[in-house]
Amino acid sequence: MTRVLRGIGVSPGVACAPALVIRLEFPEVPDRTVPPDQVEHEVRRLHEAVDAQVASLQELGQRVLQRAGPEESRIFDAQMLMAQDPDFLASVEQLIRNNHLSAETAYEFKALELRNAWSNASSARLRERLADLNAIQRRILLRLVGRAPVQPWADQQLDEQVIVVAHELSPGLTVQLDREFVVGLVSEEGTRTSHAAILAHSLGIPAAMGVRGALALIPNGAMLLLDGQAGTVTVEPTVGELEDAKTQVSRRHRLELELDSVSGRPAETPEGRRVRLMGNVDLPEEIESAVRFGAEGVGLLRTEFLLTGRASPPTEDEQADYYRRVVLAFGDQPVILRSFDLGGDKFPASFQAPPEANPFLGWRSIRVCLDEPEIFRTQLRAVLRAAVGRDLQLMLPLVTRVEEVTAAKEMLAEEADALQRAGVRAAASVPVGVMIETPAAVLIADRLAEVCAFFSIGSNDLTQYTLAVDRGNARLADRFTPHHPAIVRQLRRTLDVGRAAGLPVSICGEMASEPLTAVLLLGLGYDRLSVAPPALPLVKWVVRTVPDAATRRAADAALEAPTADAVLDAVRDAVRDYVDLRLLDPGAALPGRARVATLPPGTELP
Ligand code: PEP
Ligand code: MG
Repeated sequence: MTRVLRGIGVSPGVACAPALVIRLEFPEVPDRTVPPDQVEHEVRRLHEAVDAQVASLQELGQRVLQRAGPEESRIFDAQMLMAQDPDFLASVEQLIRNNHLSAETAYEFKALELRNAWSNASSARLRERLADLNAIQRRILLRLVGRAPVQPWADQQLDEQVIVVAHELSPGLTVQLDREFVVGLVSEEGTRTSHAAILAHSLGIPAAMGVRGALALIPNGAMLLLDGQAGTVTVEPTVGELEDAKTQVSRRHRLELELDSVSGRPAETPEGRRVRLMGNVDLPEEIESAVRFGAEGVGLLRTEFLLTGRASPPTEDEQADYYRRVVLAFGDQPVILRSFDLGGDKFPASFQAPPEANPFLGWRSIRVCLDEPEIFRTQLRAVLRAAVGRDLQLMLPLVTRVEEVTAAKEMLAEEADALQRAGVRAAASVPVGVMIETPAAVLIADRLAEVCAFFSIGSNDLTQYTLAVDRGNARLADRFTPHHPAIVRQLRRTLDVGRAAGLPVSICGEMASEPLTAVLLLGLGYDRLSVAPPALPLVKWVVRTVPDAATRRAADAALEAPTADAVLDAVRDAVRDYVDLRLLDPGAALPGRARVATLPPGTELP
């Protein structure tokens, strides 16, 4: 039997604990009819089951509110709405009354119909909602057939540390996890840039995704050794394998000592070239870690979490409060706020968007904002209000056309006027920049430079759109290479064009958080990197350790390299005299997060 399963390391760290295999299976529901005089009783049972489920979601929401925060708990508001959907329940009632079916038979019939409709829409953005729908329907059915629903990942019932193994981890599930007991995550679907992976990374939970066959090959309760850097899962590890894991952990501890030595020092190269290292902030809890790891501002403030998992968009006041909280945390350092980047893999459950055949090429990001002015203008007003006296800047995602920038700027100016006329305290304007994350944006960067204040490279999407590789497809993970020559050339070109126009050019995609590709960026001349907060110490160490001559040599060779592998080889060759390469491979440990959870009795940490 296969004992070592391979996937993609999406959140570094080594964990050893028993597997908790989560299978979202639906219960067997026997076809059952009832005598006519019992029909109303069945309708009542249906509503009791729904009410009980809503109550338990409410309670779960409260627990998550205390444990994590208000944003995470809102996921449950959306789930409650889904459970109580009046049209759906009316259709189930009708089936009970017309066909004298039992509540569970009728519910299952209608639930299956709805699930089929959603899965046939087969758009990536519906998948997030489908996982929520599955969970709710499953729990209501369990109640109707008289079995108690269990939510071991978020429940008090979990009283030992486990590694959760599931088919797919939604962002919702990931934020629900009980961080004390869940010490690792393994899923069959997902890649490094899935939002669930980014969340696991931020929360410091070691994780491997794209581990094919995990559910079939990992028995519940089996001891697992998870390496969230290599993306491997070893089932029932031998003493030798645990020893190897210990060696790796000890190497990381050595690196941590190195990292401690640069803490509190400026991010400058051995020759004294100053680099601004900023943090990417996706969730409120990352503000504190970005500050703690020494971020010099926020290079990417993602704002989608304000919409996901909620029944209605956040108010202007709520948004202004949050944006203010972020800028206050960073004093006079810049905070670059990205307007809502919905669509693709990021549609919230509450958003009524039509199904599309190609969501990543569809109605998303800036397109949604411009077409939904109510949502966008509310965000713009909140930004202007929070920007008073602070360095808050606005960044537009997925720009492919100059008109998108001019239209957004026009709306911003109109909202600034309106606020001023209404006597509301707000900034007169904020600098507006664009994300360079499509080949179109790279090719018209000179034109975009005429209408915007800065560029920031979104290498995750730039890689996806340049290489035509779905960033969320586990099967294609090996082909998702941000260090591909086609990307390297675009990185150079964008920097040249931006510099010529006098614009700051930064990079906020995940490749800036990877030590080897960070070397490449430094060599290309980038001096503003925005990275996942826990990656800050390692990237700073790389900045301070590798001389400019070596990073330049790496970049020059990379620009000539024919393949992605050759690019990485060129970088390795250029830096091997200065650093231990085993520490710098792509997906390498971000040691701020590396940890060994529970090792089995008898294993000692070095
Ligand atoms: C990117 O595409 O590189 C990026 C930073 O944006 P996101 O990952 O949120 O799409
Ligand atoms: Mg993007």
